[in-house]
Amino acid sequence: MAEIPTAKPLLEEARRSVAETARKLLTSRLIVNTSGNVSQRIGDLVAITPSARDYMQLAPEDICVVDLDGNRVDGKWLPSSELELHLALYRDCPDCAAIVHTHSVHATAATMLTDELPAIHYQMCDLGGAVPVAPYATFGSPELAQSVLSAIPGHTAVLMANHGSISYGPTLEKALARTVLLEWCAEVWLKAKSVGTPRALNDGQLREATDQMKRYSSARACYHCHPKT
Ligand code: 13P
Ligand code: ZN
Repeated sequence: MAEIPTAKPLLEEARRSVAETARKLLTSRLIVNTSGNVSQRIGDLVAITPSARDYMQLAPEDICVVDLDGNRVDGKWLPSSELELHLALYRDCPDCAAIVHTHSVHATAATMLTDELPAIHYQMCDLGGAVPVAPYATFGSPELAQSVLSAIPGHTAVLMANHGSISYGPTLEKALARTVLLEWCAEVWLKAKSVGTPRALNDGQLREATDQMKRYSSARACYHCHPKT
């Protein structure tokens, strides 16, 4: 008997990657339980984790698909309570195609001590330098989306007061890497601060690090394609 072809689920690849990234957050201890959320934009659609579902149990079809106005397109669960925050970033940030939000320990702790995580390490040029702390607002509220939106220009990550971190990038891998970097920088800053006053880099040093980073990432593509002259 001929096999009846089954329809491919919408955004199958993106939904699989979103679920995998959420699990990585949990296994890397960047979140606990069902905190945090992850999304990826594909054209005019967004795949986003459902609200308060166990990440270890998520199948691709459990990931919600919405349009850029937040209307449900596919998926059986309620989307993340931070949907409005994710959509605001997709609308406002031209280079944003993936978002990772966590309640990671050091990033969250840093928000309780400062209004800005100083540029204490050269790698922070990938985050736009010092990382601002967006003023506190209730989770899942339009006020929180507005607070983050006001802090984000010039940055690829923002800390959220008494809440956590949010990072974006052109890919999920990049958004996750920035999340991990921010968490590491917050830990280094907290350690340094516990024994003294951490020294930050100045704008000139950050600019040079940014230029050096660009040179290295293009050369890293392939030595044979980019032979040194
Ligand atoms: P959701 O489970 O609704 O995504 O909420 C988690 C969270 O981190 C809210 O800020
Ligand atoms: Zn949160």
